Amino acid sequence: MVANPETKTKKRLHLTVNRIQLNGTIIKASFPKIDELQARGRAQEAFHAQAEGVARERFGNEVFVRGVVEVSNYCRENCHYCGMRRDNRDLTRYRAQVDQLAELLVHHCPSSVRELDIQAGEDPVVVRRVVLPLIRILREETSLGITLCLGSLSWDLYRQLREAGAETYILKFEIGDPELYAEMESPGTHRERIEHIEHLASEGWNVSSGFIVGLPGENERKMMANFELAQELPLAGCSVSPFVPGETTPLARAPMGNIDLTLNSMAALRVMRPDWLIPCVSALNIVEPDGGYERGLRAGANLVTINLTPSEVRGEYLLYKRDRFLMTEETILKSLGRAGLKPAEQSVAEALSGSWSGSC
Ligand code: SF4
Repeated sequence: MVANPETKTKKRLHLTVNRIQLNGTIIKASFPKIDELQARGRAQEAFHAQAEGVARERFGNEVFVRGVVEVSNYCRENCHYCGMRRDNRDLTRYRAQVDQLAELLVHHCPSSVRELDIQAGEDPVVVRRVVLPLIRILREETSLGITLCLGSLSWDLYRQLREAGAETYILKFEIGDPELYAEMESPGTHRERIEHIEHLASEGWNVSSGFIVGLPGENERKMMANFELAQELPLAGCSVSPFVPGETTPLARAPMGNIDLTLNSMAALRVMRPDWLIPCVSALNIVEPDGGYERGLRAGANLVTINLTPSEVRGEYLLYKRDRFLMTEETILKSLGRAGLKPAEQSVAEALSGSWSGSC
C-alpha cells in the first residue's frame, strides 16, 4: 500500500540525491532537475553524453533485444491517448491464434532476440485462451526470457502467468499525477495501478513501468510527478514514450509530445537509475522521423524491441496511427551499429536474475 500522496510528494521534492541498495551494492541515485529536462543545444548534448556514459559503464556496449508479439487489440479500458480504447468503433478487433504464434516464435524467431514480450490490450479472454498456453509452449521449446504487457489483471491471473513461466511484467503507470490520470480515463484508479505494480513486485515479478511525456494538461509539476512516482516504485525498468495523438482518439487534434523533453526524460531516468532497463521506443521515430530513435540510443537506452506480430494483423494494433513505425531486426541492427552498440547475449530475465555477464 502507498502512503498519502501529498505527504510523499513533499518528502520527494527534497530528495535530489540519494543512495539505492541493489543486490547488496550501493549506487548513487540522482533525482532529475528541471533545467536538465529543459536542456537544449550544448547543455543537452552534455546531459545525453552523461546518460550514455552511465549506461555504457553499467552495460558496456550491449543492448537487450526483445521481440514483441501483439496478441489482441481488444481492450476493456478507455484511455484517451490510445487508439485501442473500447469506444473506438472504427477498429477491427482480433485475437491471435496460439498455433500460429508458437510456429512463428519457436521456429522463426530472429537470432538476435533473447526475450519475448507478449503484449495485448486489457483483455483477460486472450490471457486465458492464448497467452497462458503460449507461455507453456515457449517454456518447453525455447530458452527465451518472457515478458508480458497485458494491463491490470486479477491477482489469480498474475499467479497463473508466473507459474506458467513468465518472469517480467510491464505495467506502465502512464501518468504520475493522479488528477491527470483520472482525466485521461487511464485504467482503474491511480492508486489501484500503483497497488498492482507493488503486488506484482511482491510476487516475484521483475516489474517495468513507464510514462508518457507531453500529454495535454501536463505542466512542470505534473511532469516531475512522473519521476517522483518512478523513483518510489519497486521497478526494474521504466520507459518514456512521447505523446502521439491517435487519429481515432479524443486527443486527435492535440499537439505531439516534444522530442527533446522525451529524450531528456530518458537521460534523466538513466542518471537517476543506472541499473534500470530503459527501452528505446519506436514512437521516437514518429515524433522525429529523421533520427529520433537513434538519439534515444544515445541518451541512455539499453533495450530495443523488434516487432514480430504477424503482418496480417499488425495494422490493427493501433496505439497511435496506422502508419506506425515498425521496427524490424534489420532496422534495429543498423541503428545499433550506427550508435556503436551490439545485441546482448543474455535475456532481460537472465540479467535481472543476477547472472549478467556483459562486458562490464
Ligand atoms: S493504453 Fe492500454 S489499457 Fe489503455 S486503452 Fe490502450 S490498450 Fe487499453
